Amino acid sequence: MEFEDRFRHQAQRPKYDCLLFDLDDTLYPLKSGLANACLQNIKDYMVEKLGIDPRKIDDLSNLLYKNYGTTMAGLRAIGYDFDYDEYHSFVHGRLPYENLKPDPVLRNLLLSLPYRKLIFTNADKVHAVKALNRLGLEDCFEGIICFETLNPIHKSTVSDDEDDIEFVGSRSTISTTSNATDTSQIFDIIDHFAQPNPSGVLPKTPIICKPSENAIDLALKIANLNPQRTLFFEDSTRNILAGKLVGLHTVRVGTSQRCKGADYALESIHNLREAVPELWEADTKPEVAYPGKLAVETPVTA
Ligand SMILES: [Mg+2]
Repeated sequence: MEFEDRFRHQAQRPKYDCLLFDLDDTLYPLKSGLANACLQNIKDYMVEKLGIDPRKIDDLSNLLYKNYGTTMAGLRAIGYDFDYDEYHSFVHGRLPYENLKPDPVLRNLLLSLPYRKLIFTNADKVHAVKALNRLGLEDCFEGIICFETLNPIHKSTVSDDEDDIEFVGSRSTISTTSNATDTSQIFDIIDHFAQPNPSGVLPKTPIICKPSENAIDLALKIANLNPQRTLFFEDSTRNILAGKLVGLHTVRVGTSQRCKGADYALESIHNLREAVPELWEADTKPEVAYPGKLAVETPVTA
């Protein structure tokens, strides 16, 4: 009871320290066409660079995405070896970035929010920076948690957090001239799921990405975020559910239909002020909602 009284007295305190944003299809609409183009590029990579039978591409990419979070993570799991940077430049390099236009409305919304603001994307940094620049949002965020953050490759560029965090499988291949893989070593995931009762454990991926709860936990740790004081914006229903499971407050973006694990749902990120007005209530209390200030929080188990 004492705890509840204390909590009640803090009712005016901002509920959040940080706003954590997915990037693609969250900060710009799905209809921009980048997602479709990206999917096609991934399929082209699988055929052109990994030599996968084009007839299998649709089934394979669906199964990998579904079971491993990203097709890339799935390809590594089932045995394909390739250079991560090469993959990213292939699938993102040819995206129709010209479809992303400066978004001053969103920019003003973001800048009016007195919280830490971070990007959390499965994409690589080059893509994230490029997209944010196109949207005119490059200076709205404290930082970007991206593929390289969760899957550091070059030891010299790993952050100081390295000693504190156990990274799993953060290696890259050094082969950039050939992606030849011994196909007899490839796990046949299509055949696996074609069985009447698929049994056995799927091979693990060395890549850390959403919607793995480990990936979200790691991102929170790297950014020093308390999930219970963080609002997470996402278009992906499975990422929202995973976020909720690790304790985040969640906003589904892209539709007004809430999904499992979503606390809020917005048709567009532009509707933020109407849908989550309490975010601006902190305006009157800048002393507790200053960007970059992250007090040590007492865990609240409500
Ligand atoms: Mg997204």
